[in-house]
Amino acid sequence: MSLLTAIMEHRLLAGTKLVEERLCEVTGASRARIRQVFARLAHEKLVTLVPNRGAFVARPTVDEAREVFQTRRVVEPELAAILAQQATPAKFRKLRRHALEENDARARADRAAIIRLSGEFHILLAEMVGNAVLEKLTREMVSRTCLIITLYDRPGAPACPEHEHSELIDAIERHDAAAANALMSRHLQHIEGSLDLRMPGSGAPDFYSIFNNP
Ligand SMILES: [Zn+2]
Repeated sequence: MSLLTAIMEHRLLAGTKLVEERLCEVTGASRARIRQVFARLAHEKLVTLVPNRGAFVARPTVDEAREVFQTRRVVEPELAAILAQQATPAKFRKLRRHALEENDARARADRAAIIRLSGEFHILLAEMVGNAVLEKLTREMVSRTCLIITLYDRPGAPACPEHEHSELIDAIERHDAAAANALMSRHLQHIEGSLDLRMPGSGAPDFYSIFNNP
């Protein structure tokens, strides 16, 4: 398992210290190789390097989380629309296969796989458009979203709401660019809406709602 997969599956949580010697031991990779991986992940804002203290899985702030979602709302609806215009039967089949894998993971209640596959669906769309810049940007945003979800998820909220990926594939298959755009916008709003992005310390806790919920 790669470090990126471990982060995307929430096996390594935000803020976890990444001990270089231990990673060398368990992966068999050299220290130089581990450092290269840390540097790459730091560049993608998934790892934070602290001088004299080492490497940590990044902890995106509320402001960073909002920036990530704003970027995704700007980029991904248009990306879905472009794909709707150019998708081929081979691409639909690949998207459908991915959606089936997601459904399997949901049926098994395999939360780690659900989170990873949900993110990978978005990366797959970007790959299919065939624009390396968009693909790189989407990869970074999706991985950062995985970290954001571990930090700000409301308990029990799903990674990507069920069925919304299938609806998107339907629109892409109909070559309906406007629908693909609108569905992706709504989908990203739903993911952001499932998070608790209130600024910490923005007021006293609402004791009434905490203790009076059924
Ligand atoms: Zn999704």
